[in-house]
Amino acid sequence: MRVLLLGGTGEARALAKALHRHVDIVSSLAGRVPDPALPVGPVRIGGFGGVDGLKRWLRDEGIDAVVDATHPFAATMTAHAAEACDALRVPHLVLARPAWDPGAAIVVKSDAKAAEAIAEQGYSRIFLTTGRTGVGAFTGSDAWFLIRAVTEPDSASLPRSHQLLLSRGPYYYDDEFALLQTHRIDALVTKNSGGNMTRAKLDAAVALDVPVVMVARPPAPHGVKTVGSVNQAADWVAGLG
Ligand code: NAP
Repeated sequence: MRVLLLGGTGEARALAKALHRHVDIVSSLAGRVPDPALPVGPVRIGGFGGVDGLKRWLRDEGIDAVVDATHPFAATMTAHAAEACDALRVPHLVLARPAWDPGAAIVVKSDAKAAEAIAEQGYSRIFLTTGRTGVGAFTGSDAWFLIRAVTEPDSASLPRSHQLLLSRGPYYYDDEFALLQTHRIDALVTKNSGGNMTRAKLDAAVALDVPVVMVARPPAPHGVKTVGSVNQAADWVAGLG
């Protein structure tokens, strides 16, 4: 039994740790982040070359099953894995951490809609945490942004008025509370990533009455089995025999 783990998340690393002694696994990372946190066991890095490239790779490597533990917003990879596995009849599971309860947040469908929402609401000092690729939707905004990302966004995508904070989670409540206060943030923009590594900003925003604009998750591919925890994913792999 040889299993591909599509990764780039803490859950994927935890699953690799749970499986690597008993199962022949290979983890895959996109290669976006310099010096990524590596899972235990064999790792390959870089795109497959679309659905056809992935199908070829799965055949060449003799992969018997795929667990897609990519980030809930990695929709292209998730769609490609679903299509390739369906075409090859390879068992396939999505491991997606549960979404956050948006509470009183303004929920929007895209980064562009989040930019519209902050303009409509007249927010002027924004903590923007939607990641490097999400910044482009805010380029034309008149607001000031504290932009937190793991890697630097393209300079052309940056809004006129901003400060860049390059860092990687996990983040903690006291630090997030202080960050919101120090920068006099009047709105937090976040994806609904779920999980505990980055949720402290939401709790701090609620405590400080800072409104939240939350980008909803992209829809999951149709008909794909999904679980919410590492243990459930490990059980699924064990059940493949
Ligand atoms: P994406 O838009 O869904 O994928 C774009 C392309 O990147 C895919 O078509 C694929 O290239 C390649 N790719 C993505 N994940 C890969 C993986 N695990 N292994 C090999 N190739 C992969 O993905 P994304 O949103 O840019 O995310 C990239 C990676 O960062 C993912 O692994 C994800 O788990 C991680 N991540 C994403 C976010 C986020 O907010 N999106 C946050 C934290 C971590 P080919 O078509 O050439 O195969």
